[in-house]
Amino acid sequence: MLPRGANLQRIKNGKKTYAITPHLPGGFVTPERLEKYANVARKYHGALKLTSAQRIMITNLQAEDVEAIWQELGIEPAIGFANCVRSVKICPGTTFCKRAKKDSVKIGLELDKRYIKKEMPSRMKIGVSGCPNSCSESVVKDIGLIGTEQGWDVYVGGSAGSHPRLAEKLIGDLSDDEVLVVVEYIMNYYQANADIERLGKFIDRISFAKFQEEVLEKYTNKSKIETGKVLVKNNEFAPLPGGLTEGTLTIGDDITADSIVADIIRIYPNTIPALRSLGLGCLGCPSATGEPIRQAAEIHGIELDELIKTLNEKR
Ligand code: SF4
Repeated sequence: MLPRGANLQRIKNGKKTYAITPHLPGGFVTPERLEKYANVARKYHGALKLTSAQRIMITNLQAEDVEAIWQELGIEPAIGFANCVRSVKICPGTTFCKRAKKDSVKIGLELDKRYIKKEMPSRMKIGVSGCPNSCSESVVKDIGLIGTEQGWDVYVGGSAGSHPRLAEKLIGDLSDDEVLVVVEYIMNYYQANADIERLGKFIDRISFAKFQEEVLEKYTNKSKIETGKVLVKNNEFAPLPGGLTEGTLTIGDDITADSIVADIIRIYPNTIPALRSLGLGCLGCPSATGEPIRQAAEIHGIELDELIKTLNEKR
């Protein structure tokens, strides 16, 4: 079991070290908090690293120190698990930037408050930029907002990383109140209809035209917000429709070392909590789509036979 809020960072000479990433909404940090980071890093021989999500990661930690570090920091972990809203990147906007057209800090912090760690079909990142310079990289975020003279433009389906995709513009010229409502409809539609797939993948699968038409129709008609697909309920997981690969498993098959992670979670969704608790949290990432469980176990430092035994018990 991983220490709370920690990622396995590396295994060197059989020794594991961990990283934690406290939640810093918008990347704002007070001098007092910075002092706490410095104190725990010094005390526990941690290394501090700025992340692309406007946070400060503390890495090179020992498992047995992690809980004490959380207590001393007094900050919550940034990420609940892999498939959730993982970050809201916010540029300085009208609060601090002379070029800004919109208040990205206000909207970004509101989105952070509403959605951070909210469970989603896959990982989700949000970028909020106060003008078209797009310093929060809004067009490579799952949901990206860009401020203009006329209001907020909303982009959907962007991602960076190993499978980059530019977001497409869903709607423009929205007020602050309107943009928050549109984001709620996007989230809701994605939650209710997507497989374990990034928003961009989902849009590619159903077509941008269909996604745009259906989300905006709900927004225009002020449709009731649907109840999203409940993925976590008393630790039971509902089967997920659709397929992410050609398929290495069908229902009833044993899970083996060659079973693909994405197929395991699609055919046997009850294995998801066990996979997450063992640190295989990236259940919607592109690696999971094609990675056999033997490779995932090696990367995450998990004993393979024990893992397969656990998964077959849970399925
Ligand atoms: S996106 Fe625009 S408002 Fe935001 S920091 Fe960049 S230049 Fe300033």
